[in-house]
Amino acid sequence: MAGKTLPPRPVVLCTNDDGLHARGLQALVAALTPLAEVYVVAPETEQSASSHAITLARPLRLRPVRERVWALDGTPVDCVYVALHHTSLLPGRPSVVVSGINHGPNLGGDVFYSGTVAGAREGALRGIASVAFSMPSGADPEALAPVAAAMAMALASAPGAPLVNVNFPKGERLGTRVTRLGPRLYEDLVEVRLDPRGRGYLWIGGPKVTNVRTKGTDTAAYEHGLVSVTPLRLDLTEESPATQRRARAVALAGRSSARGEDAVRSGRARKGK
Ligand code: MN
Repeated sequence: MAGKTLPPRPVVLCTNDDGLHARGLQALVAALTPLAEVYVVAPETEQSASSHAITLARPLRLRPVRERVWALDGTPVDCVYVALHHTSLLPGRPSVVVSGINHGPNLGGDVFYSGTVAGAREGALRGIASVAFSMPSGADPEALAPVAAAMAMALASAPGAPLVNVNFPKGERLGTRVTRLGPRLYEDLVEVRLDPRGRGYLWIGGPKVTNVRTKGTDTAAYEHGLVSVTPLRLDLTEESPATQRRARAVALAGRSSARGEDAVRSGRARKGK
């Protein structure tokens, strides 16, 4: 049939940290499929809180699941790394890397621990616009996925390869805000217990968490029923004069110490002669 050739659809790479079979990822893939050429490389098993870990000390197994979908027995960052650098998975560079929708929010300092955010961050480190999505535990991913898909497509091929962290609130969505990371305070805890054989074991991480409602933050947006969109930076350098001064003092201590060592070494050398 003679007809118009449709413009090529953007390639979207999806991953998550809850594992390939998680409902959050499956809903997101279903919502993206009418809009893009969707490829999925996701962890075989749950990898929550794997942060930016990559697997270097053991082999990785890539399992083809169906057309354009693979499971990898690694971390979310392994998945994005493999998807971008394996020569025969994707047809080209994706327009956007999408991670999630995570089961559980990733607010404030969570971004340092989250495998979901790290999956997106790996895309951004490779110069690709990337976004992480998270929702409250128990939320309905089918209801949120179309919103997430629209947001991901808005980011596709954005200049400067932005990295964006999106959190859906509990219950009804009352709006959407661009935010910064807020204070999320965990009850830090090391629980010491005994196993049935009498040997001690530990559980870390207390169950209680408080989202402080500091104005303009993701934690406040979450508590106020707003979808939070936080742009994240990759350059963690601290520019504040106080920390810069402290860094210079640290460098100076290193230099003085090095001069001291040199003096000791040359002293020994003279004695040796
Ligand atoms: Mn997770």
